[in-house]
Amino acid sequence: MNNAAPAGRKPRPTHVFEVDRTERVSPHMVRVRFRGEGVERFIDAIPAERIGITDLYVKLLFARPELGLALPYDMEALREELAPHDMPSRRTYTIREIDRLEQAVAIDFVVHGDEGIAGPWAAAAGPGDRVCLMGPGGNYAPSPDVDEHLFFGDDSALPAIAASIEAADPDARGLAVIEVGSAADEIVIDAPLGIEVRWVHRDGSAHGDALVAAVEALDAPANAVDVFAHGEREAMKRLRPLIHKEWGIERSRLSLSGYWAYGRAEDTFQAEKNAPIGQIFEPEAPAA
Ligand SMILES: Cc1cc2nc3c(=O)[nH]c(=O)nc-3n(C[C@H](O)[C@H](O)[C@H](O)COP(=O)(O)OP(=O)(O)OC[C@H]3O[C@@H](n4cnc5c(N)ncnc54)[C@H](O)[C@@H]3O)c2cc1C
Repeated sequence: MNNAAPAGRKPRPTHVFEVDRTERVSPHMVRVRFRGEGVERFIDAIPAERIGITDLYVKLLFARPELGLALPYDMEALREELAPHDMPSRRTYTIREIDRLEQAVAIDFVVHGDEGIAGPWAAAAGPGDRVCLMGPGGNYAPSPDVDEHLFFGDDSALPAIAASIEAADPDARGLAVIEVGSAADEIVIDAPLGIEVRWVHRDGSAHGDALVAAVEALDAPANAVDVFAHGEREAMKRLRPLIHKEWGIERSRLSLSGYWAYGRAEDTFQAEKNAPIGQIFEPEAPAA
């Protein structure tokens, strides 16, 4: 069976995180705090170019229990041994906080019901539970070269938005528009005085509608801005032409992507990124 990593891709190390404790930060968000040797090694191994990145993310790996795979997963070895559909499923999550003093890492999981793997896992997680992961990735940090920062997203992007706002300079200016289920799902963000956090609520409406309506109601920015916009894929597809074309925000100042897709598990959603349905931006023309 040819299940190998694509040629040229370096084997990616995996880490095992152990749950220290969990906390409900809102009715639909659980914070899982991890500690232990795996966390310490992960923190030590963060490459220099990712230090200061505020949308740092990891890929949690979930194998079907009936396969009885032992942690940590050696993904290269598993690719040799397993059929593709038996490989651990990947779920992408933002590092909400790295506490270097306590050598702990926190991840905030949206609790979105019984469907899926990672959301239900986090909702039921308790001290001593272990999870294997790869990473980190991530590219964004609020740029010191702009006048204002704009953040648009739903609950799935709330950890990255909150981490970015909390890392911004004390004199930073900007606006965050964040969609959550209801007023009860709002959390406290330690924002600089100049960054307004504006919550919008689904209150039973479709995912993304309240966010898109609130962003469409904004005036085009008059100053130099950077934009961080992430959340449900269709909502991001609707925001892209407004932000990129109408407002004229260049790609270099715009971090915009789908974090999940309504009705699709992450495996399907990620696989669709090469198909038209999965694309937020038109593919770049090949260099001449
Ligand atoms: C870079 C990046 C960073 C991310 N950071 C975070 C993070 O910090 N916290 C976080 O919670 N999510 C985050 N996400 C989104 C997360 O990866 C997806 O929500 C993922 O699909 C959840 O996996 P699951 O196993 O719970 O559900 P899946 O098995 O992937 O999906 C099962 C069903 O649940 C639905 N579903 C999935 N996510 C949601 C949701 N948020 N709300 C409602 N329905 C949903 C799907 O549409 C599907 O119908 C991030 C995604 C990316 C790409």
